[in-house]
Amino acid sequence: MEKNSVKNNLQKLKKQLSEKVTLVAVSKTHPISSIQEAYNYGHRIFGENKIQEMVTKWEQLPKDIEWHMIGHVQTNKVKYMAPFVHLIHGVDSFKLLSEIDKQAAKNNRVINCLLQIKIAKEETKFGMTEEEAITILNQQNLKNVKIIGFMGMASFSSEDLVSQEFECLSKLFEKQKRNNPSLTVLSMGMSGDYKIALNKGSNMIRVGSAIFGNRNYSK
Ligand SMILES: *Cc1c(COP(=O)(O)O)cnc(C)c1O
Repeated sequence: MEKNSVKNNLQKLKKQLSEKVTLVAVSKTHPISSIQEAYNYGHRIFGENKIQEMVTKWEQLPKDIEWHMIGHVQTNKVKYMAPFVHLIHGVDSFKLLSEIDKQAAKNNRVINCLLQIKIAKEETKFGMTEEEAITILNQQNLKNVKIIGFMGMASFSSEDLVSQEFECLSKLFEKQKRNNPSLTVLSMGMSGDYKIALNKGSNMIRVGSAIFGNRNYSK
C-alpha cells in the first residue's frame, strides 16, 4: 500500500474526527484524478476557492458531490456556481449575499451560506466584523439564501493566538445560535490548525494539503 495516498490520508484524518464534524476536502489546484481517488474511497464533500475551477470540476465529476466554495467570491461570478454550489463559506458582505439570493432565485434554489468573520489580527484576511454579521442576521429577509453558520480563518502564527481567535468565533457562534436555530455550522480549521479548531468547537474543517499533498501553484 502506498503510504501517502489520498485514500490513506483521508482514512487517517477521518479516524480523528467525531461524527459531528464535517470534513471538507479542499481540492483546489489538484487534478480530477485526485478527487476521483477520494470519491472512490467514499468521500463526497469537496472545497474549491476559485469559481471557474470548481465549475470545470463539477462538470467532469459525479453529480452527487457536494461542492463548497471556500474562497473569496466576486459578485459578478456568483451566477456560474448558483446552479449547483452546496455551501458558500466566504460571504463577507450584504451586497454579496443579495447577489447570491438573486442568482439562487433564478435557479429555483435556496443556497446555504456562512458569514465569514474576520478573526485574524492580520490585515490581509477577508471577513466582516461581529457587528456587521449580527446586523445581517437580524435584518436580512432574503428568501433564496439561508445563513447556516460562520466561517473564520486564524492567523498564521503562534498556537496561542490561533487558539484565541478560534475561541472568539466559537463564542459568537454559541451566542447567536441561541436566538437563531438556523445557525448550525461553525467552519474553522485547516491542515495546520484543525486540531486547535476542533478543541474550540469547530464542526466543519477545511483540509487540503493534509489529504492531497502540497499544492503546486506554478502550473
Ligand atoms: C486552501 C484553503 C484551505 C485548506 O488549506 P490547507 O492548509 O491545505 O489545509 C482551507 N480554507 C481555505 C479558505 C482555503 O483557501
